[in-house]
Amino acid sequence: MIKDKVVIITGASSGIGEATAKELASRGAKVILGARREDKLKKIADDIKAAGGEAIYAALDVTRPESNDAIVKLAKDTYGKVDVIFLNAGIMPVSNVSALKTNEWKQMVDVNINGVLNGVAAVMPIFTAQKSGQVIAVSSVAGIKAYPGTAVYGGTKWFVRDFMECLRMESAMEGTNIRTATLYPAAINTELLDTITDEGAAQGMAGLYAAFGISPERIANVVSFAVDMPEDTTVNEFTVGPAKQP
Ligand code: NDP
Repeated sequence: MIKDKVVIITGASSGIGEATAKELASRGAKVILGARREDKLKKIADDIKAAGGEAIYAALDVTRPESNDAIVKLAKDTYGKVDVIFLNAGIMPVSNVSALKTNEWKQMVDVNINGVLNGVAAVMPIFTAQKSGQVIAVSSVAGIKAYPGTAVYGGTKWFVRDFMECLRMESAMEGTNIRTATLYPAAINTELLDTITDEGAAQGMAGLYAAFGISPERIANVVSFAVDMPEDTTVNEFTVGPAKQP
């Protein structure tokens, strides 16, 4: 059941996070929106409330542990529990290794890996105490298959896959009833390509997305499916993308 679930969404200011927030709220969830661009979060929360839904927001930088702790505390203090954390924030400044964009490598590790770890660390004490909770994370098709240009981005997303599967197994063994779901999207039309600074990579990706990209609402549908699942069932992995993308 989605209704009345308390769902924290990282990277909720655009794309997949925004679409998911709107869909879950339209189905009765209480959503807590986090990202760095507060003006965008405010507008999305206002839209949700105008449509009859429940939403609050807070500035969030997933790379900072205390920022993750603060949004989780806000959710718990406001609603008394946390049911789901959707670890969606991410960046994708792809380029070939030979371009040596080492700062971007570090940024991807920080947002895509440390951001996930910080979110899980923030929410885990609540899930453990509740003996209930669901962690949903966004990996990528680049997290299950290597592509030229995605060495570091893909590496961060392979990490997400491994981490989530370990978390699933450990939770089952420990009896904490923390469920997991990992998404592997292909080309989804969002703001993600804006993070690419390498000209060749930007052109290549723009062509791919123009040819195949689908709406982030499709990913929101899948996240909602996972959230809707009864407590005795975990739906672990979804690869979702354009039907026409090879
Ligand atoms: P968007 O660029 O539209 O959304 C990314 C979100 O991440 C934004 O809300 C951004 O908000 C947030 N974000 C970035 N850095 C931080 C940070 N340090 N702290 C908090 N929030 C941050 O792209 P998508 O919706 O496509 O991306 C969502 C996820 O999906 C990402 O993890 C991406 O890797 C993954 N993905 C996307 C695919 C696609 O084709 N679009 C394919 C496969 C995976 P703000 O800037 O306001 O902080």
